Amino acid sequence: PADVVPQAPEDPLFGLMRAFRADESPDKMDLGIGAYRDDNGKPWVLPVVKKADEILRNNPDLNHEYAPIAGIQAFTSKSAELMFGADSPALKEGRATSIQTISGTGAVHLGALFLAKFYKGNRTVYVSNPTWANHHQIFNNVGLPTAQYPYFDKKTKGLDFEGMTQALREAPDRSVVLLHPCAHNPTGVDPTLDQWKELAAIIRQKNHFPFFDSAYQGFASGNLVRDAAAVRYFVEQGFELLLAQSFAKNFGLYGERAGCFHAITSPGPGAAETIARIASQLAILQRSEISNPPLYGARIASTVLNDPKLFAEWEENLATMSGRIISMRKALRSKLEELGTPGTWNHITDQIGMFSFTGLTEEQVLRLRNEAHVYMTKNGRISMAGLNTKNIDYFAKAVHKVVTT
Ligand code: PMP
Repeated sequence: PADVVPQAPEDPLFGLMRAFRADESPDKMDLGIGAYRDDNGKPWVLPVVKKADEILRNNPDLNHEYAPIAGIQAFTSKSAELMFGADSPALKEGRATSIQTISGTGAVHLGALFLAKFYKGNRTVYVSNPTWANHHQIFNNVGLPTAQYPYFDKKTKGLDFEGMTQALREAPDRSVVLLHPCAHNPTGVDPTLDQWKELAAIIRQKNHFPFFDSAYQGFASGNLVRDAAAVRYFVEQGFELLLAQSFAKNFGLYGERAGCFHAITSPGPGAAETIARIASQLAILQRSEISNPPLYGARIASTVLNDPKLFAEWEENLATMSGRIISMRKALRSKLEELGTPGTWNHITDQIGMFSFTGLTEEQVLRLRNEAHVYMTKNGRISMAGLNTKNIDYFAKAVHKVVTT
């Protein structure tokens, strides 16, 4: 019958992309999707990825057999080291398990499914307000409700640390808390390391369960270690935690779906046995969902992660991407300040990573779309990577116009 399956709304971000493609103006600008673009506005295949691809193509031993259920071991083990540090106590003590996933989305989903099946604390997942819109539906789809903790302070366009900590204190004990380790999507606002330490203290005191979603390691600051600092602090403190890891942005492997899910248990007797049981359950979940993860993206990342020379080149590529974004932040802020656009614009350079939460209202966003062919999400988020030396003047002037008239 016609009424059994109602029409679902279109995904707002992909709807925006569709509208952008249909726009025939030569001035049109895509600041919607979170994908890196070079200074010509073009997608960028990382030079190190090209090299890894070449190496793979010349390897006569590779075939198209299934990967193991948990994925390519050389990839997952190096991914864990990348995130937690090669000398991480959790890795050394055998308290971590890693499984290859369908990029970051698949990792968040696998974690959600695992929690839905086994988590005995408060099953509400606390996510930041706002957060990556997909978080809500990923958890809700497996039967875990989401609640929000305050995150973005509209006045300062920075972190509402007081609101955040108060909400985490008031949440029922043993709630799941979803955290973005760096380059928060959509705001670009991160806690400082001292604030992370305070958050860890509250999470410990309340026996909350931290679940990190890491989609921008190395892409935020250009430094892989710095971008992992919050996670490594939690691990040092002996937390039991989950972590979803995406290689979409930092390797530019968006469509190849390379990612990992990691679980870590607290130190103590029986920790290694616990992690083995967790790994066995993750394998069952994986088998029923996808059987075997995809090979190509993981092979590319693994080739780089396992070769010190290529790894060093990757770090240079990361510096290229994050450096260009940081320079666009500086340029946009100074252009708006030069134009005398009302308001403060320091948040553009204070924020980090792929996105900036501009503070533009929905009405201004729609005017930018209709009058200037500039496409961004309705919450005023812009993908910094969509700006370049050729279109930034146009964008600043368009913003100035909708703010002042
Ligand atoms: N989490 C966050 C916060 C993200 O911003 C993204 C990318 N938009 C992801 C997870 C997952 O992306 P992917 O599945 O492409 O790795």
